[in-house]
Amino acid sequence: MTRLSKSRFIAGQQCPLRLWNDVYRRDLATPPDATLQTIFDRGTAVGELAQQRWPGGVLVGFKPWEREQAIAATNKLMADPAVPAIYEAAIEHQGVFIRVDILARNGAGWDLIEVKAATRGEKEVFQEDIAIQHWVATGAGLDIRQAGILVLDRNYVYPGGEYDLDQLFAFFESREHCLAASKRIGEQVRAFHDMLTRPNPPEIPIGDHCFTPYECPYYAHCSDGIEFPENGLDQLHRLHPTRRAELQALGIERIENIPADFNLNQMQERIRQAVITGQPWQSGKLGETLAQVEWPLYYLDFEAFQPALPRYPGTRPFQAIPFQFSLHYETPKGELQHMEHLHTEDSDPRPALAHALVHAVGDTGSIVVYSGYERRMLNELAVAVPELATEIETVKARLWDLLPVVRENYYHPDFNGSFSIKAVLPALLPDRKWSDLAISDGMAAATAYEAALNEPTSADAQQTFEQLRSYCAQDTQAMVDVLNELRERAPNRPN
Ligand code: SF4
Repeated sequence: MTRLSKSRFIAGQQCPLRLWNDVYRRDLATPPDATLQTIFDRGTAVGELAQQRWPGGVLVGFKPWEREQAIAATNKLMADPAVPAIYEAAIEHQGVFIRVDILARNGAGWDLIEVKAATRGEKEVFQEDIAIQHWVATGAGLDIRQAGILVLDRNYVYPGGEYDLDQLFAFFESREHCLAASKRIGEQVRAFHDMLTRPNPPEIPIGDHCFTPYECPYYAHCSDGIEFPENGLDQLHRLHPTRRAELQALGIERIENIPADFNLNQMQERIRQAVITGQPWQSGKLGETLAQVEWPLYYLDFEAFQPALPRYPGTRPFQAIPFQFSLHYETPKGELQHMEHLHTEDSDPRPALAHALVHAVGDTGSIVVYSGYERRMLNELAVAVPELATEIETVKARLWDLLPVVRENYYHPDFNGSFSIKAVLPALLPDRKWSDLAISDGMAAATAYEAALNEPTSADAQQTFEQLRSYCAQDTQAMVDVLNELRERAPNRPN
């Protein structure tokens, strides 16, 4: 019988083909990138800290393939009443092998604890994670008194110094779910084992399940060679799955084939028309809306990271900490200057960043942003740097969000249903494609920064900082280009 592990079981719940590949064709998986690796490392750090909540526990080591030794060591520790807790306990039942993050002695029984670098223990995938462990542990004869997910408490405010582990972590009890799920879990385990005895992989087409609850590492392989329909229904902004299913039931896969009497909302109808005509749509108010900006213009973009374990006093788990901004300055004559700030030391970046920003944006002119993110970061800064709260309020009052202006006033068929600046810029200016930068999205920027802080003076960190500068500057330059191009295209062109 092919052994299942906890992660293989969860993979099988997502997609039986993913499980089959995990067992027989790991070579087809896309290797984790640096962002994913940083997230794994974060989970390890949180897990090790959580162990300290059960002091005196003993770690069961061994390599992943040394299962028999790990099980024997676990059994020995379980038999020793002087051991209060076992970290990475190895247990097996009916061909399913698990390593329990923390198995803590509770009277004559045990508590089963799964640690997650997250704040929401009730997430369905976490519940299934603990349920399979409970099924294995009880099946192996353990008396489980409590079973649940240990997460980081979002309300914990780090005062500095050592963490208060009782406050930092919150326990989400899941034993009821485990008991209710037990029969189903047993059936799924049997079904997975049965599937794995077959010579061929299950035939499963790609779909939404490839990204829920996790992005599947086989997506590049499974989607290879598949031709996605041009102007597919995915490009119909916020199309409800029920409506999409209705269209698919009619055999409709492309936007231009949607019947005229099919009920679409205003935005979706706008997209349909743009696809059919091949022409951009614009509202009659584009020019006057663009004319509302006040010169000179500043274009602002923040980058922030969200450390799972609070790094700076006064912060909470996963709190967004802005560490960088890019600022383009433009005069009515089109003269452009670039300013920036990047905090490159392992200390709270917010005070220096707030001071640099307040100084850089001057006293007058609209501050163009793209989405509500910059306003949220300014709110965070106002709390973190109270001596600048008044100045930050003034900055907030000057924000001018370009995203809703585009969304409400302009649609180009090449937006392909997206109003992300990465979609908007090349549609408006095809020769201004995004450069292929080493850091190419906010998540990559955040994880790269967090990794660089471990050794901020190293050559690798310096390289990361350079990449972050290029990335952030590209975002504000894109806003400059989009706004100017829209101004060109507006019929009642503003000055
Ligand atoms: S990419 Fe999708 S279909 Fe392919 S294995 Fe993963 S989840 Fe299954």
